[in-house]
Amino acid sequence: MSDVPTVVRTPAELAAVRGEGTVALVPTMGALHDGHVQLMKHARPLAQTVVVSIFVNPTQFAPGEDFEAYPRTLDADLERCDEAGVDVVLLPEVATMYPDGPDSGVVVEPGPLGRVLEGEQRPTHFRGVLTVVAKLFGIVRPDVAVFGEKDFQQLVLIRRMVRELSMGVDVVGCPIVREADGLAMSSRNVYLGADDRARASVLHRALTAGVDAAPRGAEHVLAAARAVLDAEGVVPDYLTLTGPDLDEAVPGQEARLLIAARIGTPRLLDNIGLVLGPTTHEGA
Ligand code: AMP
Repeated sequence: MSDVPTVVRTPAELAAVRGEGTVALVPTMGALHDGHVQLMKHARPLAQTVVVSIFVNPTQFAPGEDFEAYPRTLDADLERCDEAGVDVVLLPEVATMYPDGPDSGVVVEPGPLGRVLEGEQRPTHFRGVLTVVAKLFGIVRPDVAVFGEKDFQQLVLIRRMVRELSMGVDVVGCPIVREADGLAMSSRNVYLGADDRARASVLHRALTAGVDAAPRGAEHVLAAARAVLDAEGVVPDYLTLTGPDLDEAVPGQEARLLIAARIGTPRLLDNIGLVLGPTTHEGA
């Protein structure tokens, strides 16, 4: 489309620039980093028009979480969108997304998968995520939507929502973009103090230790990852091995190792794919 992204704020403004061609949507909460830019670049060849939404969604934050403090860097974000060849940036107001207020109106319930892992700590989080993504899909009507594997449970739940509600959007996942020491990029990494920032690579080190142990089976994966965490005195909220859809991990097949841990102030998430070896007996 054009050289510089067109900024729109309402569904009507979006409809006026959307055009009739194919559309790829990259939903974000802003404070854009290289992980987001990768999603935009991945989206670019997938459709004629690439739309990035920037919306800090109040309904996915629980009371006491960082909704007000969440980093907001709009000018820099628009520059990153421009550099990545984005056509349209959608910047809706809370009142546009939630005309009857954030606490009333129709919601999308994620079901049991929304209550485990992240959902155990944050029971209303995925209802907020799925509801806002469904609203964005309704406004933008994308052919394709691009999400990061960084938020792996979110990606799995969005795929399920699209399938179960027959939304007809092609959901594409992108690998995690990391800092040089392995820390997964996140808008919340700015909350890390210097000492905690240095320690934060422990999550990725634990995951890669798990990958190295994968040929020896699930128990070894978890033990190897836990040993790295123990050595740094990190007690994770969870360290779990699942199948690729957060189902049960099966020996000899692809699996996902997921971790969440608080390092200083922020709670960090990470995950990695691996292929499990056949079952082995303890001590084998
Ligand atoms: P957020 O702005 O944090 O809500 O993230 C918007 C999208 O960017 C989500 O699909 C995230 O999974 C994705 N994302 C965030 N960080 C990364 C990263 N380090 N690598 C890849 N994708 C990411």
